[in-house]
Amino acid sequence: MKTLIAANWKMHGDLSWRAKPNAFRRAYGVPTHGKNSGVDILICPPSHMICALVDGAKGHDIHIGGQNCHQAETGAFTGEISANMLADCGATYVIVGHSERRAIFGETDSMVAEKADSAITAKLVPIICVGESREQRESGQADEVVGDQLKSSIPASANGDTLVIAYEPVWAIGTGLVPTLDDIAAMHDHIRGILSTRFGDEKAQTIQILYGGSVKPSNAKDILALTDVNGALIGGAGLDMESLCAIAQAVEG
Ligand code: PEP
Repeated sequence: MKTLIAANWKMHGDLSWRAKPNAFRRAYGVPTHGKNSGVDILICPPSHMICALVDGAKGHDIHIGGQNCHQAETGAFTGEISANMLADCGATYVIVGHSERRAIFGETDSMVAEKADSAITAKLVPIICVGESREQRESGQADEVVGDQLKSSIPASANGDTLVIAYEPVWAIGTGLVPTLDDIAAMHDHIRGILSTRFGDEKAQTIQILYGGSVKPSNAKDILALTDVNGALIGGAGLDMESLCAIAQAVEG
């Protein structure tokens, strides 16, 4: 399975950032030449930049995705963007259920499932985010919380063919704190088990499970070497193309 290195730019940047895919490619090299071919790079910029970034990424073998979508295809939803609209711009992925969307915008598991469903219908790959709070981890509830989120956030329409899961402990996002490698490995194994129950062992093995939360060039190699970690979802370090490049290169060993 390929490793997916995904940068979530959140609400940062302007149209001058359309040149970033080019800067990334200069630092990273060209996968079609054999090097780095086991890695997919995804950048999820703010919505107003998606079309420009799709253009800027042409020829650089970089995917562009959305950070969120509305669950409806179209309608009177001022300020929202649908999965179809993201696809219309040339996006190929969309993040759904990021902890900031859940905490700040009140998104529930069932809304996340609807968003993921609309993404699949629009032929986008949904990246479904799950993760426990610090209190939940400290009280020994992490497995149960993440398991429940996962089961309720994967839509009935998913058959496992176009689906990515991101495990992002809320307390590790933007804090510099990272779970131990053993804890990351155990949670990814737990998630794989739930995917196996839902989709069968064979299909579950093909679903990428990303880790997210304070991934940096300095810790990427160890995290990405874990058995069930198939990539990373990166916030802060993904704004800088040298850092993103160093994280992607960590996959190569
Ligand atoms: C995130 O926001 O999904 C994230 C992982 O952020 P950071 O890498 O900055 O912790």
